[in-house]
Amino acid sequence: MNNSLTIAKIRGIKIRFHISWLFVFAILTYSLSSGFYPLRYEFDTLTNWLLGGFSALLLFLSVLLHELAHSIIAQKKGLQVRSITLFFFGGLANIETDPEKPLTEFKIAIGGPIASFIIGLFFYILYIGYPGIYLTPVFDYLSKINFMLAIFNMIPAFPLDGGRVFRSILWAYNNDIKKATKIASNSGKIFGSLLIALGIITIPAGFWFAFMGLFLIFLADNGYKQVIIKINLENVSIKELITKRPLINPEWKIDEFLNWCKEQQAFKGFIKNDDGIFYVDISNLQLPNDKNQDFPAIKSIMKKSETVNVNEKDAFDLFKDMQSKRIDVIPVIDDNSNYLGVISTDSFYRIIKLITIQEKLNISKTNN
Ligand SMILES: [Zn+2]
Repeated sequence: MNNSLTIAKIRGIKIRFHISWLFVFAILTYSLSSGFYPLRYEFDTLTNWLLGGFSALLLFLSVLLHELAHSIIAQKKGLQVRSITLFFFGGLANIETDPEKPLTEFKIAIGGPIASFIIGLFFYILYIGYPGIYLTPVFDYLSKINFMLAIFNMIPAFPLDGGRVFRSILWAYNNDIKKATKIASNSGKIFGSLLIALGIITIPAGFWFAFMGLFLIFLADNGYKQVIIKINLENVSIKELITKRPLINPEWKIDEFLNWCKEQQAFKGFIKNDDGIFYVDISNLQLPNDKNQDFPAIKSIMKKSETVNVNEKDAFDLFKDMQSKRIDVIPVIDDNSNYLGVISTDSFYRIIKLITIQEKLNISKTNN
């Protein structure tokens, strides 16, 4: 996630702050010092603000511990955890690979809510056992909010923790991760829709519910699609995705290039020279102002292109890479830098569609 600041490193995991957390911190401090505390206790304004800010900080720590619980379990299971980012809706642990077994997913997912429950219990004990007048309300608030975090996260709506727990149980039960993800993701969408409905009937206060509901539906849908893409690309090599497309001549004029584009049904052409591979994109074309003027050679607008080595990555990693860098088509080279053809994002969707149809018809991929 961009716009984040790394503030610490724990067990090799970068702890990052997304800029949106500052906003949440401000809103939280405000609502605590003008709502929660004045309604329950009779402190002066300054005390309310100090308690509000202090509680918001402790909540931030609680969320961090929740994410650390997920991350440490994941590390123990041999998965890599790059970072934990604290943002708008809480925390997000960036766990490198998805768990291969349902039991592993179950343990990683349930670790967070258990941590929140234990933290809630810890603050509850302080709340009933601690005699001080100022910190008692803080402990009161933190035990409540951590219990709420534990409960909210256990709602079986993918990709919330409870949704992951739900998926892992379905997955263990029917041994089909696609089906399990589909069901868990649908329950995520249903819960998201309920949040939106709740938000609409309680507008303007319900605005956040509606917003969260929308966000959850997006995540549920995206999470399902990612799983489907990953599973289907598991046995696909980069080689299978290559489309043969001839290189273009850097001396061509724009009109020649456009004719080639029409012929190849392409928007981008690639040029290879001693310095590597370059591309010419029709959206970068600059037509001469004067109609009688000659078209310039396309080499004047060519730009250096990213490439992928056919032996370097698996198909899913390439897909993720192209998505995150917003690359629509990439030239493929071999170990000797020979140009082999191109891979476009469409190639992935096409092969996924074909594999899905093959599976429906029960045709094994090796039998074709
Ligand atoms: Zn969690």
